[in-house]
Amino acid sequence: IKQRLDIVEFISGYVPLQKAGRNYKGLCPFHSEKTPSFVVFADSQSWHCFGACSTGGDILSFVMRRENMDFPEALRLLAEKAGIEIRPLDAEELRQRDEWDRLRALNAEAAQYYYHVLVESPRAEAARRYLERRGVNRETWGTFQLGYAPQDWHLAEEHLRRQGYSAEDILAAGLTTEGDRGNVYDRFRDRIMFPIRDIQGHVIGFGGRALSDDTQPKYLNTPQTPLFDKGSVLYGINLTRNSIRESGVAVIVEGYMDVVVPYQCGVTNLVACMGTALTVEQLDVLKHIARRLVLALDPDIAGLRA
Ligand code: ZN
Repeated sequence: IKQRLDIVEFISGYVPLQKAGRNYKGLCPFHSEKTPSFVVFADSQSWHCFGACSTGGDILSFVMRRENMDFPEALRLLAEKAGIEIRPLDAEELRQRDEWDRLRALNAEAAQYYYHVLVESPRAEAARRYLERRGVNRETWGTFQLGYAPQDWHLAEEHLRRQGYSAEDILAAGLTTEGDRGNVYDRFRDRIMFPIRDIQGHVIGFGGRALSDDTQPKYLNTPQTPLFDKGSVLYGINLTRNSIRESGVAVIVEGYMDVVVPYQCGVTNLVACMGTALTVEQLDVLKHIARRLVLALDPDIAGLRA
């Protein structure tokens, strides 16, 4: 609900606001005053009265105070404004929520596994050399939890099964894939692994870069899963959103390495749109944290289309 509504626009419906730098000012609706001490912050989507009230909050606490509502009432009012329906979860949705929880835990375990293989396994020697050659240092491996999927048909699945995950869930998470004759095997083999996280930091999928140049495709992503929808993902946003918010600028790049290498060098206000054309869903996320978007895409057909 908070993502869909803009606090400045919403509060303007109650209080005439004047732009003051990056923020907005008006007469406090909660105490009587002649000079404005009520400020709405667009960047953090919050408000504060610097006068007699000396209090503040988010869009929900504004409604609760202004309309004298309790939390559920305020939530219902805002949900309606945002076009979101609020009701208890039904049985199917409860099942779905459990599935999401399991798949998130499974992805977190897989990311941890690939990372350990990269750091410790003798099989990952070539992967370590590749990252070193690209100038990615070990601290950055940890920051992004980079990993390596070994050249093997079953190692990752066997590891996850030993941790108690079911073959069905491993397949549903896209970590294994099913062949023509129903044989199931690891999807990612001999690839540098980039865990893809949502804005809260949950691992929702992976991108795998082929280590050998003759392997096709060069980049392999998790397919569409209950957690992973490629069109709405922004790689790196869990790490870079504060920096984007502070600078007011989001630099949009194309691939994983385009985020990882500049980040290591201290350029941290960027996200990757994952090679596809920029989507409305991606812009929806960014417009709340950045006032300026800078496209730094490859000068090829995909880049031009984006
Ligand atoms: Zn006040």
